[in-house]
Amino acid sequence: MAPGLSSPGRRFRAYTVKHLDDLTTRAGLSAAERLAVRAVATVLPFRTNEYVVERLIDWDAAPDDPIYRLVFPQSDMLPEADIREIGGLLARNAPEMEVRAAAHAVRTRLNPHPAGQLAFNIPALADEPLPGVQHKYPETVLVFPRQGQTCHAYCTYCFRWAQFVDEPDLKMATDDMGRVTDYLRQHPEVTSVLITGGDPMIMGEAVLRRYIEPLLDPALEQIESIRIGTKSLGYWPQRFVSDPDAEDTLRLFGEVVAAGKNLAIMAHFSHPRELESSVVGEAVRRISSAGGVIRTQAPLIRSINDDPAIWAGMWRTQMRMGMVPYYMFVERDTGPQGYFAVPLLQAHEIFRDAYASVSGLCRTVRGPSMSATPGKVCIDGVVEVAGEKAFALHMIQARNPAIVGKPFFARFDPGAIWLSDLEPAFASRFPFDSTPEELPGLWAPEVLASMS
Ligand SMILES: *Cc1c(COP(=O)(O)O)cnc(C)c1O
Ligand code: SF4
Repeated sequence: MAPGLSSPGRRFRAYTVKHLDDLTTRAGLSAAERLAVRAVATVLPFRTNEYVVERLIDWDAAPDDPIYRLVFPQSDMLPEADIREIGGLLARNAPEMEVRAAAHAVRTRLNPHPAGQLAFNIPALADEPLPGVQHKYPETVLVFPRQGQTCHAYCTYCFRWAQFVDEPDLKMATDDMGRVTDYLRQHPEVTSVLITGGDPMIMGEAVLRRYIEPLLDPALEQIESIRIGTKSLGYWPQRFVSDPDAEDTLRLFGEVVAAGKNLAIMAHFSHPRELESSVVGEAVRRISSAGGVIRTQAPLIRSINDDPAIWAGMWRTQMRMGMVPYYMFVERDTGPQGYFAVPLLQAHEIFRDAYASVSGLCRTVRGPSMSATPGKVCIDGVVEVAGEKAFALHMIQARNPAIVGKPFFARFDPGAIWLSDLEPAFASRFPFDSTPEELPGLWAPEVLASMS
């Protein structure tokens, strides 16, 4: 560790594209490889910080180190022709405008808003859309705060990259909590608000409070839990320990608990190394003392955490530290997805082997789960019925609650990596295929009736 870096009380400092060449030199990359990485970083966002660089990455193992691969773009993440074109522009110091235009063209060929997020799930209030809010499952509303659309570092596999790059049409966020609370009052079926991003913990306490405090209004007694989706415990645990507003933030969490609601930190940990530093342990203790509950989740990523021992180790350490394992996700269908994808069969085997080796206290975890257009689909395993092999699946979450938790089958396909690769087995359609799509944010009366 370099002298003085990440010492307690040290303020957050991001590393960006400016620092990329120095850092990839440290990883031992050749000039040609460094140029290719810079080309990728014109298309996909790059950002890290000195805690990740000095405390998490094992530089002796870079560029193969999993934490290095977690935050640094890889030269082969985009099609070779694109890299060659943009690399050529960078090599001859082409005008910024020309580089941007080429990067934009590559980006439009990727798929920044998977699972129909942009089109399907934006609710409406008084016939006006409510951007920055998603209402997909009856009981839960997602809020994307305008000031929370960045992170302490970016994950190379992130499907939310469209939020971070300079493409205004691709962004979605809100700073109008008045409209959000109006919407919630009109939707008493909503009991949980999930504040997400980006990373909401990038916001200082005063700004975060503007999003949380309105939800504590007694008129919103229906709200039972406020969740914050964050990777700050992995990327910048100082947020809860030594940042200037750490104490105020914990007090805000305490106010949520005092209002009779569950304050849940949905913590994203990709690799057990993120749990090792003493700062993380201290952050977990402080959040727990404030009355918060930390639940953990992460996607399964090829070359970063595609090994049952990694997941079992992660769940056991999390449980020991007082956290609750929650979800293992299948990587979503984003642009560079082919790069990180783990086939569903292998994903299930990794989950099962890890699950089988931990105690019941860790078996709160569910997965592997695909967050797809119809909902969260869990792969339960492979069955053989009347000589035919099939995947057994169930919906953990669905737009239509009537199909949650009911088993169904798909034809066995060892190469399938996503729901869209699957065909129904022992039935002519999947349960969600027979459900007509609802209008955005409007729930059919029979659905609402079934919930009360
Ligand atoms: C996962 C998810 C939720 C929360 O689902 P839980 O099963 O309650 O954790 C809500 N909205 C969307 C869009 C989600 O993907
Ligand atoms: S921390 Fe979350 S939102 Fe931020 S880059 Fe990683 S996965 Fe994406």
